[in-house]
Parts: sequence; structure tokens; C-alpha cells
Amino acid sequence: MTFIGFIGLGHMGRPMAANLVKAGHRVRGHDLNPAAMAAAAEAGVATVGSAAEAAREADVVITMLVAGRDVTGLYRDALLGAADPGTLFIDASTIDVEAAREAHALAVGHGMAALDAPVSGGVAGAEAGTLTFMVGGEAAAVTRARPLLDAMGGRVVHCGGAGAGQAAKICNNMILGISMIAISEAFVLAEKLGLSHQALFDVASSSSGQCWALTHHCPVPGMVPASAANRGFAPGFATALMLKDLTLSQQAAEAAGADTALGRHAMEMFRRFADGGGVALDYSAIIETIRAAPAP
Ligand code: NAD
Repeated sequence: MTFIGFIGLGHMGRPMAANLVKAGHRVRGHDLNPAAMAAAAEAGVATVGSAAEAAREADVVITMLVAGRDVTGLYRDALLGAADPGTLFIDASTIDVEAAREAHALAVGHGMAALDAPVSGGVAGAEAGTLTFMVGGEAAAVTRARPLLDAMGGRVVHCGGAGAGQAAKICNNMILGISMIAISEAFVLAEKLGLSHQALFDVASSSSGQCWALTHHCPVPGMVPASAANRGFAPGFATALMLKDLTLSQQAAEAAGADTALGRHAMEMFRRFADGGGVALDYSAIIETIRAAPAP
């Protein structure tokens, strides 16, 4: 049994913490939102009044927050001063690579071990305990974290040193965002050419157009069971989160001097879609903007 402090009990954090409880670990949790605290308490998390209290005497501190400044701010202001030296810090939020490296350096500077461990798999994966963890940090810390990551996920990939998990996450999601736009353009073109959705799906899903976004999140209804198009584009993976990840990928590309023209274009398309009212819809609803676009 490991004693875990868990901060950030939102859509993802609550079910992840619940799976740690189910695996027999002692979990002390905190969130600023009282409703999130109440839901976590129902799942067996011992909720406490501050992040520092959650970290005190913990073997491992896990954070599942929104942005890089949330993580580094909380590390600096509350967690690193409260935890015992040698505590393992795991940040599972999706944040920028620079902030992940900063969080790692802060933790190591306080005598802690630290990993960045963002996830893919969404809320359904968090509930089912089938998340994929992309992990950055030292091998010894990964070994220490693995039983906990296994309790929350189905796959753990050690991607390299500090920040490598976040780098893998944003590169992966840049592929996903670009793929969804490519698939959407193909279905809209098919519609204008009088080709049925089914015919395009049958061909592309077994030919060179095949990709994960097509076979899991096809943006037209009736092709695959998990598609948000089957339920009016209720998320799923919300456009707001896709835009966040594409923006992180473009910040990283700029900082690293990489020319990611399609990634940049995808970010701009998702930003226009989000600003135009699509922010809470599934990201696959981007097809509607392509369908509605005037002929060039
Ligand atoms: P969320 O907004 O539901 O949860 C974040 C929680 O952190 C909130 O409950 C908030 O109250 C809490 N919080 C913020 N600052 C805090 C502080 N200082 N102290 C205590 N609690 C604090 O977000 P989510 O959907 O759970 O996503 C969490 C992270 O996981 C994000 O980085 C997101 O990009 C990433 N992610 C989300 C999904 C998804 O499908 N939702 C999938 C993969 C990755």
C-alpha cells in the first residue's frame, strides 16, 4: 500500500484517484472545487482542506491540473514545502514542455523525485483504468511509479528525460488534430462527389487512408460506435482540449525552431471553430466548419 496525495480531482483526476483507492492504496485528495471533493470522497478518497495537507507524509504526490502555471505554482507555493524529502512527484496534467521541465527541476531541487506523466484515453479511459501514460524522467522514478500508473492505466511508455512525456503527448495530439481535419475534408469532398459515407469508410478504413481517428472517431454518424457524430457531437474529446494541445504543440515548435505548418494550420482552424461556438463540442465536429465553408 502506498500513501498518495492527489491534487486535482476533476473529470480525469477523480476517476484516477478512485482507481488507486480500488487498488488498495491510501489516497488523500484535494481540489478547489467542493463538488469535485464530494465526488472523490464518495469514491473513497480522504479529502482534505489544502493541497499542502494532501502532500504531508505522502510517499507519492500526484497532480492532475489544467495548465503549467497551476503545476509549477502549486509545487512552489504548497507541495514541495509540505512533502517529505524523497517523495515522488508525478504530474499527469497536460502542460507545456518548459513548465514540465521547470516542475521537475523544482522538485529535484527540493530533494524529491519527479516525473511528467500526461495521459491519453480521456475520461472513459480514466474511469476504466486503461489510460496510456507517456512518462518523462529518471528510470528509477519510473520503476517506483509503475505500480501506481498500472493501477490507473493500461500502458506506460517511458519516453525519456524530464519533459519527454509532455513532448510525446503534444506530438501525438498534433497528429490527431491534423488527421481529423484530413478525414473531415475527405468526407466533405465525398459528399460533393456523390460518394456515400459508408463507401468511403469501407475503402479508407482498409486502405492507405486508414488511421486511428478514422476508425475510432469517424466524424460522420453510423460508421463506428464510439464516434461523437452518433450523438450530436457531445464530447468525447472536447474542442477546447484539442485546441489546448495544438497550442502547446505550436508553442513548443516555435521554441524548438521546428516548422510544423500543418500543425499551425490545424490550431488556427480549431481556434476559429472554438471561437465560433464549437468550444464545448467534440473535436470531430470540425467537419461542420469544412462542410459550411464557401467554395474557394
Ligand atoms: P478539470 O478542469 O476537470 O480538472 C482540473 C481540476 O483541478 C479541477 O477540478 C480544479 O478545480 C482543480 N484545480 C485547479 N487548480 C487547483 C489547485 N490550485 N488546487 C487544487 N485543485 C485545483 O480537467 P480534466 O479534464 O480533469 O483535465 C486535467 C488535465 O488532464 C488537463 O491538463 C487536461 O488537458 C488533461 N487531459 C484531459 C483529458 C480529458 O478528456 N478530460 C484527456 C487527456 C488529458
